[in-house]
Amino acid sequence: MSQGCGHAVDYLYHYIDDELTWSRRIRIRWHLRRCPNCTGAFGFESRLKSLIQQCPGDEPPPELYDRLRALIREEAARDHP
Ligand SMILES: [Zn+2]
Repeated sequence: MSQGCGHAVDYLYHYIDDELTWSRRIRIRWHLRRCPNCTGAFGFESRLKSLIQQCPGDEPPPELYDRLRALIREEAARDHP
């Protein structure tokens, strides 16, 4: 982890939820460009969110868990080839 990761990860969830101000977004984007660790985490969270958004209703369908497990396996394989 390079310097600034803690901040970037803290803001990641808010960034994905479009809750950050533009100045913070720019700072995070700048960090993501330089930091592969956070880029990986960011990609994972984004995909997670879009998966969840595709699911209507309050109860997540069972397929969501299968897709989540696949995503997590994919991430784990990338971190530890
Ligand atoms: Zn970072």
